[in-house]
Amino acid sequence: MEVEELLSSLIKINTENPPGREKELALFLKRVFDAAGIANELMAREPGRENFIATVGSGKKTLLFLAHTDVVPAGEGWNVPPFSGEIRDGTVFGRGALDCKALVAAEAHAMLQLAKRPGLNGRLVFAATADEEVGGAAGVKFLLEKHPEQIRADFCVNEGGNAPYRIRDRTVNFVQVGEKGVAWSKLIARGVSCHGSTPDLGKNAIALMGRAIDRLSNYKPEINLLPDVRQLIQDMVDLKGADLTVTPDTVDRAIGLFDDRAFAAYLKAITRMTVSANVIRGGSKTNIVPDYCETELDIRVLPGQDEGYIRRELNRTLGNEVEIQVSYNPPSFSPTSSPFYKLVAGTIGEVGGGAACLPCLSSGGTDSRHLRAAGIPCYGVELMAPGFDEELRRLPHARNERIDVASLRLKADFLVRLAEKYLAD
Ligand SMILES: [Zn+2]
Repeated sequence: MEVEELLSSLIKINTENPPGREKELALFLKRVFDAAGIANELMAREPGRENFIATVGSGKKTLLFLAHTDVVPAGEGWNVPPFSGEIRDGTVFGRGALDCKALVAAEAHAMLQLAKRPGLNGRLVFAATADEEVGGAAGVKFLLEKHPEQIRADFCVNEGGNAPYRIRDRTVNFVQVGEKGVAWSKLIARGVSCHGSTPDLGKNAIALMGRAIDRLSNYKPEINLLPDVRQLIQDMVDLKGADLTVTPDTVDRAIGLFDDRAFAAYLKAITRMTVSANVIRGGSKTNIVPDYCETELDIRVLPGQDEGYIRRELNRTLGNEVEIQVSYNPPSFSPTSSPFYKLVAGTIGEVGGGAACLPCLSSGGTDSRHLRAAGIPCYGVELMAPGFDEELRRLPHARNERIDVASLRLKADFLVRLAEKYLAD
């Protein structure tokens, strides 16, 4: 089966999460791998949420190919039915075509190719896992807790989160080496309730919160330029042909050189802590002055910004009129100085036809954070063929998601070469 047919079949199996229902997809992979005579098994925390794991080769070295099988809900307004998996004009259409069934298909296809070749000096594990889109509790987290021996590896290749970027006809590929930490936190304002007709008798919690939100909207986070991030932005500026040395003082000018709003917002997000007030609750009735109001904050932090840092920043900005609750999950990082990183970047250079390759930090989260926390270095790769449609960069989680067959084949080719090199001797 060609890799695009494999992807088309995977898209046709609706795995919208919630609720997930990854079982049918896991069973499909099982049939394909059973037919090829490759050892595999299904593992689930609960029925219906099956993870698929296959292994080829044996030996001391282990490489893990990881990809998630669930997708975000399709939503409305598609030009092509989202679960059609239609292949037309060299393109595969449907929910998950980019995130992340392209990688599932490419990894499965690479495994099927590699299983036919003798002499792999080590184990190659393919894990197609459930539940990434809502945190991975039934997927990678479950496997790490209950079956760690199944997915333990020297290093892992996973989805990345940043599609390639084109600068002056040159494609820049990113290897995701880290993710920002996530601190979903809460502000609580407490007031004094009274009748709404005599508001001066009380203390209005919503008004207190309003002042806090206003201060938060004026918050200027300090620039935190990690060495790898500084180098990434400097390399991008150099590729653009601009004469600018990236420092904490000039970084916003450097970011201003990029017209693509999504890319500029991404660069901004990986050079500072971000805080966004996204949910507010308070009050119960028009004629009661509220004594309680709470706001949920989405806070994303860089390495070096711990819980104490978040509290200091919020206290400095908000004063003590509101209570602050912080729920902290640290950032995750895999080294760029490791031989694994060099192997991944070198292989991308080989298959990418002279494309540049830079390490990047992701502003969002993937399952890599769970593996990194368990001590497994992870590198996220989103290879695209030269000349790919740049609109694809905006389509993960959006309608009319699709991928070109050339990019899909490039991903599979990259994975075959990477495994052959790592497990060569
Ligand atoms: Zn994904």
